[in-house]
Amino acid sequence: MTKYFDIAVVGAGVFGAWTAWHLARRGQRVLLLDAYGPANARASSAGESRIIRMGYGADEIYTRWAQRAYTQWQDFFASNGHRELFHKTGVLWLAAENDERVRESAATLTRCGVPFEQLNRSTLQARYPQIGLEGIAGGLLEPESGVLMARRAVAAVVEDTVRAGAEYRTAAIVAPRKSGKIVSVTTSAGESIAAGAFVFTCGAWLGKIFPDVLGGRIFPSRQEVFFFGIPPGDLRFAPPALPTFLFQEELSYGMPDLESRGLKIALDAHGECVDPDTQSRIVSPKALEEIRAHVARRFPALRDAPIVETRVCQYENTSNGDFLIDRHPEMSNVWFAGGGSGHGFKHGPTMGEYIAGRLLDNAKGEPRFTLATKDVVQRRAVY
Ligand SMILES: Cc1cc2nc3c(=O)[nH]c(=O)nc-3n(C[C@H](O)[C@H](O)[C@H](O)COP(=O)(O)OP(=O)(O)OC[C@H]3O[C@@H](n4cnc5c(N)ncnc54)[C@H](O)[C@@H]3O)c2cc1C
Repeated sequence: MTKYFDIAVVGAGVFGAWTAWHLARRGQRVLLLDAYGPANARASSAGESRIIRMGYGADEIYTRWAQRAYTQWQDFFASNGHRELFHKTGVLWLAAENDERVRESAATLTRCGVPFEQLNRSTLQARYPQIGLEGIAGGLLEPESGVLMARRAVAAVVEDTVRAGAEYRTAAIVAPRKSGKIVSVTTSAGESIAAGAFVFTCGAWLGKIFPDVLGGRIFPSRQEVFFFGIPPGDLRFAPPALPTFLFQEELSYGMPDLESRGLKIALDAHGECVDPDTQSRIVSPKALEEIRAHVARRFPALRDAPIVETRVCQYENTSNGDFLIDRHPEMSNVWFAGGGSGHGFKHGPTMGEYIAGRLLDNAKGEPRFTLATKDVVQRRAVY
């Protein structure tokens, strides 16, 4: 006999894991599925580490979502014995004179009651002599923010969701091509999965699964990440000497030496459009050259440091960087939730809570997350 679920969540990255977690906590019979496994090597949630910060310029909605998520992550880690999955490194924004975004972030953080410190150039120089400050006029430090150990955090959320009564299966779902209310979806192995509603949290795959609706609206971009080896016995690049950092004008970010993996650094500019199933996970010579030049400028002592690890992943961008959380226009009980756009990981718990509210309480949707606001031309506005 076919087992019936209230809700099937397809995709066990950070969005799917937290969606299933909230739904299971609210008494739903939940099935969580993933084609390759929770936070698998191809998923956007697969990185070792992801930044959680509150600053979002004037975009108060994301500051408030990040605040709510921060509380939920902390509660989750505390109650599951996983405090090691968060590192309170502090997050330091570095910018040129009169940087509009840092100014706007300061105003929003003040309004939202987020603690922060504004640092002038001479304070930066005194506190962080290991950073090359050419062109930098000041900084904004969020002392409570830091780093989530991403891949392991997702695995822990999935584990806890199963403990709460949900079922997890590794299976690839074939995209449904129906209209009205659908009763089941099929796996690539031919198994039928029956549920009252279906939530597709498939990240960069959303455009492949729903090509008619999302093919032109999700832009997967290749992103390359580097870890630079620290000189032996050198503590200048580990917390508390170095916080997590974001260079505003250069669109680069990184974090200190956590768990002895080296200094992590990457460029946030969008790379080429890629297929998440097949893209090469080997870094390109061009990206290597760019990041070496950047490290030489910003961390001169690591100019010739060996690269001890690399990662290649993909963002799943929407046209402007806003999330996409909406009902399928033709299938009334099919939802999609994604568009993490390079900044989504931290928001996982709030995303799950929001989706549970939409499905179970008929809660009002945020207009910025609707399909109608998603363009087919990219104009990045949310960072
Ligand atoms: C290099 C990099 C750095 C980033 N840095 C940060 C950061 O510092 N802070 C931050 O907040 N965010 C950051 N992000 C963004 C964040 O990681 C993503 O927004 C987030 O992980 C997206 O999660 P997701 O669950 O939507 O997608 P994913 O993690 O990609 O999960 C989607 C899942 O769906 C599954 N799937 C696909 N198709 C099917 C199918 N047909 N059937 C079953 N399963 C399927 C896949 O296997 C996959 O596991 C970064 C992203 C990258 C790539």
